[in-house]
Amino acid sequence: MLRCRNVHPTPETRYLIDMVQVVEAFRASDDFDRELVGIYHSHPRTQAYPSPTDRAEAQWPLAAYVLASLRSDEPELFAYRIRDGAVLEIPIVEP
Ligand SMILES: [Zn+2]
Repeated sequence: MLRCRNVHPTPETRYLIDMVQVVEAFRASDDFDRELVGIYHSHPRTQAYPSPTDRAEAQWPLAAYVLASLRSDEPELFAYRIRDGAVLEIPIVEP
């Protein structure tokens, strides 16, 4: 897992992954089979469901978009696939 910086000018409400950091991580890795399988971010005050912006800006249709909501004492965690703006919830399975 690679924890990336949020480089969006308003990181309180939006996110923008630092792609320079991602490219450097892939380049530095000895694991040539490494691929992007999921992206996570949190919604501090709203539900763990892709916002209109999340849906509009989703760029990896095969990746799992994992969202954590911190709006209550118990964090909520859900995963989705987002393709062409459409949202499909996918299960999170614990090992
Ligand atoms: Zn979001």
